[in-house]
Amino acid sequence: MDFKEIKEADAKNYMTVFSRQNICFTHGKGSKLYDTAGNEYIDMAGGIAVNCLGHDHPELTAAICEQAHKLIHVSNLYYNEPQAMLCEKLLEGSIFERMFLCNSGAEANEAAIKLVRKHFFNRGENRTQIITAQNSFHGRTLATVTATGQDKYSRPYAPLPPGFIHVPYNDFDALKNAVTENTAAIMLEVIQGESGVLPADYDYIVGAYAYAKSRGILFVVDEVQTGMGRTGKLYGFEHYGIQPDVITLAKGLGGGVPIGAMLARGEVAHAFAPGDHGSTFGGNPLACAAACVVVDKLKNGLLAEAEKKGEYLMGKLSRLRKFNFVRDVRGKGLLLGVCLTDKVSNTEIVGKMAANGVLLITAGHNTLRFAPAYTIRYEEIDKACDTLMNLFANTNV
Ligand SMILES: *Cc1c(COP(=O)(O)O)cnc(C)c1O
Repeated sequence: MDFKEIKEADAKNYMTVFSRQNICFTHGKGSKLYDTAGNEYIDMAGGIAVNCLGHDHPELTAAICEQAHKLIHVSNLYYNEPQAMLCEKLLEGSIFERMFLCNSGAEANEAAIKLVRKHFFNRGENRTQIITAQNSFHGRTLATVTATGQDKYSRPYAPLPPGFIHVPYNDFDALKNAVTENTAAIMLEVIQGESGVLPADYDYIVGAYAYAKSRGILFVVDEVQTGMGRTGKLYGFEHYGIQPDVITLAKGLGGGVPIGAMLARGEVAHAFAPGDHGSTFGGNPLACAAACVVVDKLKNGLLAEAEKKGEYLMGKLSRLRKFNFVRDVRGKGLLLGVCLTDKVSNTEIVGKMAANGVLLITAGHNTLRFAPAYTIRYEEIDKACDTLMNLFANTNV
């Protein structure tokens, strides 16, 4: 199919849930992507914080091919080695004791919601309420879209499952005031990715965590976007010195192969009994073989590289503050955002950057989001930032 045929097929066949850019990629290498017209792009988007090893990473591709030759899938009625190995790698030396594997961020959060409720059910306590933040993003299933504190995503799907309360982000008093004797968990992102790469204040997370502990409330961190080294530490919560009861992972975990995970510690980690939860594909050997490579690379220097490159990119992007239509440059590690005033549109900038060979993503609050591979080269960061600098310099507002 040529690009025209692909677009026609998409327009005719696919449900109209996406506003796609007018680009179709054919292949990639590292942080370079190539489209059907032969154009080359620098990928600062990383498939929305997914392709942490870049495209066609030799070890990742080899591990996937090798595993495909052995077994792509076996059911969870049997054991499989890549799954066992991944769990060892993720839990070894961590604060977590038990984990569950699934296929996406929404599913990981769905599992976390169920685990939290099961925990209090086991204890015979009537605690079902989960407090989340306004402008959060936790996924698109019915429960996670309800947990997501953005009315536009959930309103058409009423009736929504009860038991979710949304409070303003970075407002400790609001959070404290929302707690009742029915509160089971507080579930937060440490950086709100989708809604504008907005980091949580240090005092907010530390305060919320301490308050949760004092009230016997479970603390859940949605690390779907911030996990696996994205913020320069393995998990985003490490920036805050806390020990969450439950975290969820997906996006970067498989380096592009769909996989999600939920990790837990303490009593809640043991709340599920056989038959309580499951997933046909969850922990499938192909996905786990891929995730094993990601974890190994992070432990062998890639995490430090992500941190260093994050600081480098932040240094470059900070120079954009001189433009009067730049409101803020924020984020951590390689999850950074340039927040614009309403004089310019992030969607337009993303389109123009793509036309100039650089891929960015939009995020809420008129933000440009950067989430490149940790393997990106410094020259590629330089070129992408120079392109944006030039574009901004030629933007008259
Ligand atoms: C992307 C994202 C999700 C949803 O992940 P899916 O794999 O799309 O279901 C959940 N939480 C956060 C913080 C995310 O960034």
